[in-house]
Amino acid sequence: HNGLTLSRVGKTFRAGTRHARTALEDVSLQLAPGQVGVLLGPSGCGKSTLLRMVAGLEEPTTGALALNGQAITGPGRDRGMVFQSYTSFPWLTVRQNVAYGLRITGDSSSLREGAVDYFIDAVRLGDVADAYPHELSGGMRQRVAIARTLANHPALLLMDEPFGALDPETRWQMQSLLLEIVRKERTTVLLVSHDIEEALYLGDVVFFLSSHPGRLRETIRPGFKAS
Ligand code: ADP
Ligand code: ADP
Repeated sequence: HNGLTLSRVGKTFRAGTRHARTALEDVSLQLAPGQVGVLLGPSGCGKSTLLRMVAGLEEPTTGALALNGQAITGPGRDRGMVFQSYTSFPWLTVRQNVAYGLRITGDSSSLREGAVDYFIDAVRLGDVADAYPHELSGGMRQRVAIARTLANHPALLLMDEPFGALDPETRWQMQSLLLEIVRKERTTVLLVSHDIEEALYLGDVVFFLSSHPGRLRETIRPGFKAS
């Protein structure tokens, strides 16, 4: 199977103790290559836990996860993660941050001249390429993080409420920019949101979770967007 597959995944924290807490139960889902999937649900329903398991940062208690036919057993370079919080390196310029993303692939062909500029232009940061993150707005910093992560060419881009800290205008710009870039790069994206408007706008597939414990309630495919 290509793409992302979760088969009956469950997660119980402190399993086997009296503080056991089941965050997720029996979640099965699939995401095809090049699709944007959104995990939507109330606070505490297990969205971040699910994303962290896909990232390989958390082990499932039950079930299995696979990316492009390979079982997910830990973190890997085939997955890139963008968080809500500040994730660029403060001591590096915008250009150096993005170059760092290219470097960790260990792929010298991707280091050829122009690759860094390509990703800087893609997120429209050409004018501030030599600035440091602290000189930039929140939206710009988020774009640095996205460019650096995309430069690493992940098969799957994982985003945990990436635009939650931005003002509405900037959020709107970032959402359309993200779609533009991932369509062009054919990147598969799994994004966590608690905003239904964002989910319907960004998602080719929207997974609705409910809480206590987190379960997959419904999957919809908003069909009205141009892609
Ligand atoms: P809910 O909002 O679903 O009721 P809470 O946020 O009240 O959940 O957390 C319930 C319990 O889980 C608390 O004991 C809290 O400390 C623990 N907890 C929540 N998130 C984490 C976390 N990331 N790491 C460790 N413990 C956590
Ligand atoms: P969401 O991202 O949907 O808000 P989370 O995945 O953060 O939900 O949390 C799901 C549930 O698991 C919550 O009840 C939370 O308190 C609990 N939880 C999350 N991480 C931990 C942890 N490390 N230890 C214990 N409980 C946790």
